[in-house]
Amino acid sequence: MRDMGTRVFIAKDNQLSPAEWEKTVSVLRNGGLVAFPTETVYGLGGDATDPHAARKIYQAKGRPSDNPLIVHIADFSQLEDIVAETPEKARTLAQRFWPGPLTLILKKNGRIPLETTGGLDTVAVRMPDHPLARTLLKKSGVMIAAPSANTSGRPSPTTAAHVLEDLDGRVDVIVDGGAVGIGIESTILDLTEDPPMILRPGFLTKEALCEAIGEVRTDPGLCKDTAERPKAPGMRYRHYAPRAELTLIEGDSREVVAAINALAKNAEAHGRRVGILATEGTKDSYRAGEAVSVGNREDEAEVARHLYSVLRRFDNLGVDVIYSESFDDSGLGQAVMNRLLKAAGHRRIDARDIRIEDMP
Ligand code: AMP
Ligand code: MG
Repeated sequence: MRDMGTRVFIAKDNQLSPAEWEKTVSVLRNGGLVAFPTETVYGLGGDATDPHAARKIYQAKGRPSDNPLIVHIADFSQLEDIVAETPEKARTLAQRFWPGPLTLILKKNGRIPLETTGGLDTVAVRMPDHPLARTLLKKSGVMIAAPSANTSGRPSPTTAAHVLEDLDGRVDVIVDGGAVGIGIESTILDLTEDPPMILRPGFLTKEALCEAIGEVRTDPGLCKDTAERPKAPGMRYRHYAPRAELTLIEGDSREVVAAINALAKNAEAHGRRVGILATEGTKDSYRAGEAVSVGNREDEAEVARHLYSVLRRFDNLGVDVIYSESFDDSGLGQAVMNRLLKAAGHRRIDARDIRIEDMP
């Protein structure tokens, strides 16, 4: 692709200068691409009603074109402009959680082209809660189709530097709003099914959704042990993955540390560089490899916020293999484990199965 020359505008107090806003808005209105921060991760945005912009997004990311984009809106009336009908549960959820990290899947009308929705007759919609994203949506009046602003398959970007790492020359403007607050993607809820179904666990927990609208199911295809395919096309691909092979080690904390130490020592003995995804409480217990902490195990939000930048860090360190601790699979931990398992291609080992004396 021709190098377009990417411009980076650095926001101060969540504001750009009038000239920077003007340029950013004009890029969006004229079919160009703008990367911008949301509260979850950085998005790669284009006009959701423009099929050419959608194609550019797929091309810039190297994303398969059957993997639909999320449409970002500024207010509820825009949702009603693009869907075939607005179920009562959509109103309830929007009132309760928008702006915020919840994406709703609804039947679309003709305003959003099939290019944006990966050929589906449904559309994913979200109202983001980041001041820069909101200002961009309002100033431009454009509904913004935006997947995460990473190369397809790589960890999602939580800083503008991550976006530049992946998309320099492939996006017209990057709005740099610093590190995002949440760091993990929105929860995707399919409202075309009854009861509604979680297609991707995210920052907003199942418990919070149930409290608002009653019964909610989780897509059985998300569990690797079933034969069913995940319903969100994006959940079918290997994703969120660093370059090195990642393996999750499960078990109680002491056993996990001992197992990872044995694995790391063994890998180093074979000339491989090792990264260890550790936590504050364990990071000093590793005797081999390069341990990087994702935060305090008890603080799930901190772990979620740091997860992607730690995965990218391993890429920059140039490690060959990564051993990762595991996390509780409840609440926000469900989203963290979903991303880690996908990054690991579902490679997981029980710590007790590592026989230290068997190591060659
Ligand atoms: P990203 O914005 O990069 O997190 O990707 C958007 C996610 O939303 C992908 O996993 C898509 O497969 C999913 N998605 C978007 N639109 C739909 C839809 N209409 N039906 C099901 N999943 C969708
Ligand atoms: Mg993504």
